[in-house]
Amino acid sequence: MKKVGFIGLGIMGKPMAINLIDAGYSLNILDSNKAARDLTQKGATAFSTCKDVAENSEIIITMLPDSPEVNEVVFGDKGVLAGIKSGSVFVDMSTIAPSTAKEVAEAMLIKGVDALDAPVSGGQVGAETGNLSIMVGGKQSAFDTVKPLFDVMGKSAVLIGDAGAGQLTKACNQMIVGMTIQAVAESFTLAKKAGVNLEKMREALLGGFAQSRILDLHGQRIIDRNFDPGFKLKLHRKDMNIALMAGKEFKVPLYGSALVASQMDAALAAGWDEKDHSALALLMEKLSNVD
Ligand code: NAD
Repeated sequence: MKKVGFIGLGIMGKPMAINLIDAGYSLNILDSNKAARDLTQKGATAFSTCKDVAENSEIIITMLPDSPEVNEVVFGDKGVLAGIKSGSVFVDMSTIAPSTAKEVAEAMLIKGVDALDAPVSGGQVGAETGNLSIMVGGKQSAFDTVKPLFDVMGKSAVLIGDAGAGQLTKACNQMIVGMTIQAVAESFTLAKKAGVNLEKMREALLGGFAQSRILDLHGQRIIDRNFDPGFKLKLHRKDMNIALMAGKEFKVPLYGSALVASQMDAALAAGWDEKDHSALALLMEKLSNVD
């Protein structure tokens, strides 16, 4: 079995790494937060530089917040690029800008390394249960090398196209998720203010054409008043920015995404950075003077 490096052990990365360990892979790990390195208790080896992780691994996975962190981990002093060996595969599973994914892939190629951008959908629960949907950009041969690991972390992995195609697909995913949350937040706020029973409404709508996982899971969160992350609002706002930048690049007007991004800005201004993205419902309630 290939030796695997795993950098970024947060809400998503940690359960993904645990699933790989449980499947028998030996893991070299790093996170800037020392507390996140407790996977050593499960047999992982912790390193203090990304260069060391790369030197000791054949497949290096990153699961970091955003493009700046990926750039730091790859290109920084004692970064992955400084240690990675020719013939290794670098797999970034974070959600970042497609342009950054392409830059990383070009830099890796010079080192004789194939890179995949492989962002995921499915959230914390999908990460814990190994049921992520993985959207991949890069070469077929690199995809085939990493596929056994994707099969441990996810229920589906699709090679979509060249470097950056996985990230562009993920941006589209986040547009659909963001706009659907907005739709659920507006509907539930209207129903609440009109005195309609939200539990019964959710049950009825789940049986019809408006059915979705977001109506199911986030509808339940709104009913339960549970806005603990999950997926942090500040991270989804970052993803809407990636989508809007892509819209600008390709000259596609993204009306709904722009509105949702503004809604998220208002929620961030209320101090809800760390809340789950379903907290858009809290904003709608505040704007509508609903308790
Ligand atoms: P998180 O903030 O919980 O985890 C990020 C981890 O990276 C943290 O443990 C942090 O300490 C570590 N880190 C940050 N900078 C670092 C550096 N320079 N070197 C080493 N470690 C560093 O975030 P998350 O929710 O796990 O999300 C990770 C990525 O996955 C993001 O791009 C997010 O958009 C994406 N994503 C998240 C979800 C979700 O539901 N949480 C779902 C799909 C995709």
